[in-house]
Amino acid sequence: MSDNQDRNPRAEPTVCPYCGVGCTIEYAGNDKATGTAGPVNTKGEVCPKGVAAFDVVAHEDRLTEPLVRESGRFATASWESALSRVADELTGIIDKHGPDAVEFFASSNCTNEENYVFQKLARMLGTNNVDNCARLCHSSTVAAMSERFGAGAMTNTLEDLTETDCLLVTGANPAEQHPVIFRSYFLPAVRNGATLIHIDPRETDTTDAADIHLDVRPGYDIQLLNSMAKVVLEEGLVDESFLEERTTGAAELTAHLDDADVASGAEAAGVDPDTVREASRAYAEADRAAIVTGMGMSQHTSGTDNVHALLNLALLTGNVGRPGTGVNPLRGQNNVQGAGDVGALPNVLPGYQPVADPDARQRIADEWGVEPPSEPGLTETTATHQFGDEVRAAVVFGENPAVTEPNVNSVRAGFDKLDFCVVIDLFETATTAHANVVLPGSSWAEKAGTVTNTDRRVMRMRPNADLPGNARRDLDILTALGQRLVDQSDAFDYDGPEAVFEELTRVNPLYAGMSYDGIDDGYQRWPFPADADSGTDVLHTETFASGDQTAPLLPVSPTPPADAVSGEQLVLTTGRTIEHFNSGALTRRSERLMRMRGEDVLEIHPDDAAARGIEDGDTVVVENDRGRVTVSAAVTASIRPGVVFCTFHYLDPLANALTGDALDPVAEIPEYKHSAVQVRKPTAPDQE
Ligand code: SF4
Repeated sequence: MSDNQDRNPRAEPTVCPYCGVGCTIEYAGNDKATGTAGPVNTKGEVCPKGVAAFDVVAHEDRLTEPLVRESGRFATASWESALSRVADELTGIIDKHGPDAVEFFASSNCTNEENYVFQKLARMLGTNNVDNCARLCHSSTVAAMSERFGAGAMTNTLEDLTETDCLLVTGANPAEQHPVIFRSYFLPAVRNGATLIHIDPRETDTTDAADIHLDVRPGYDIQLLNSMAKVVLEEGLVDESFLEERTTGAAELTAHLDDADVASGAEAAGVDPDTVREASRAYAEADRAAIVTGMGMSQHTSGTDNVHALLNLALLTGNVGRPGTGVNPLRGQNNVQGAGDVGALPNVLPGYQPVADPDARQRIADEWGVEPPSEPGLTETTATHQFGDEVRAAVVFGENPAVTEPNVNSVRAGFDKLDFCVVIDLFETATTAHANVVLPGSSWAEKAGTVTNTDRRVMRMRPNADLPGNARRDLDILTALGQRLVDQSDAFDYDGPEAVFEELTRVNPLYAGMSYDGIDDGYQRWPFPADADSGTDVLHTETFASGDQTAPLLPVSPTPPADAVSGEQLVLTTGRTIEHFNSGALTRRSERLMRMRGEDVLEIHPDDAAARGIEDGDTVVVENDRGRVTVSAAVTASIRPGVVFCTFHYLDPLANALTGDALDPVAEIPEYKHSAVQVRKPTAPDQE
């Protein structure tokens, strides 16, 4: 630990830096954080990551000086020389290759104000090449929900989900990944009699609380969801008045499903047809039924279509626009919702206004003095494939793509082809290894601003400690870069984060009318203002957010996973654990979290293990033509045969060495949940 006492630690209510639940925490003395009653964790409850949140703040490995690479090695540098180097290099590349030669990686782990300034910098330089790691988790969910409903966010609130009669949780394990939501909102609903249906190839802590489990084959969700829709149609469980008043396209969907057969659909999805019928009835016959959806749905090459199939179920049964219903994506990082809301996406401006919309661009130009470009920029997944070609530089803000992108060995090689890379972060990471300049930024406990949680609540963060050494606040770093890089330098003159937020409320219609004073220790929920003081709770009540009274039903056909399994190969699917988060750059530095779970394992079914002579605890090799990792085997019947699971939090094993390049054609999200791999015991050459 560093000498934390010099940093004036103090208790101020702020938002946990980890998941999208948005628990309120504060400094508790002795280098520890604690939960404190907040808008979401109303009794001050937190999970192990929240308890350990201060470990990263006070860690001795924190970067405290800018680093500039000279002759292949990092040397400390003054802020003046480091910022000038960044400005000179980026200006040179833009002059030579144009602004679209730079990709900006925004951070869904940083504040709305920081992400707003970051995307403003990219767009004032003349490019829409700005994206955040929502691309990797729920971009397909956002694409489908935006197209059909007009808003890519939770339709309902956590509070009203406690009133549901049926929770259909699909491709998510909230018991581990959103633990406070699970304990404080979902379990109370189950205790009140709601049926919990869990769709997931693994039996997890969420399954333990479920009434019905469908252990779907990864990549075969549409076969399952179309079968469920077919049961709804066959058994007369459609909400006819909702269908008449609030939907279009019923005849087309019905005709599309005419040929569907529940038994064969269930067989393709690897589940029992009687259980499919039981789950369909439980969902459709409930007065209020809610879908909760996670990355098991979204992270496929068919991710957008998977969510379209889910939306069909909700619309057929009239489960939209009322408390206790809806389609509710559980967002990952603490500000993944906000990063998109404020425009850190290549196709939309703040408030999800399309870059192609001339009126939206003019509204931005009126504020900035510069009109953003009209062509959508590159997603981060596509940009990494163009490193060294069309893309010559990367500005990476608080992300770790050299661990989190798919086929990461290829991405790492791409980083080495860039002319220039600057990273703003707290620690040296796998990505800083490829950087020319590293700028030491601020942790959650050293910044003020706002973040937006999974149910659209904008909440305030407050400093709990001073910065270490010569590290700077992220917002100060970004505005300093703006002042150096953009001609209209007063565009980046802000008197603190509140001034940025005020500008954001003028250009983002969803946040119009919000204020720091209004949020205070509570929250304001978008869209705002609305009928309630704190914002709009349930979306799509009378009309959809699209402005239409109706939403279309959409025929969806299955497409096979891109990474086909052959011979003895198994399907690798990846996910998170309760103790760690994403690339692990933060949580792996917490001794207490590492004591709870210090190494990764590969979950494998006993039949698959026996066929390969693998016993529990054995070291195994997992490989395909993209990479090879070694990992301990955990032999468990909690995963379906033919599928293996490991997390992606660890540098070793580096799970994303095995995941593939194929992308969903609409959202460009990778197929993290279906990679074909061989699993075997090591041989002598492996150990050489
Ligand atoms: Fe933090 Fe999420 Fe845990 Fe709450 S549930 S303490 S927001 S990681």
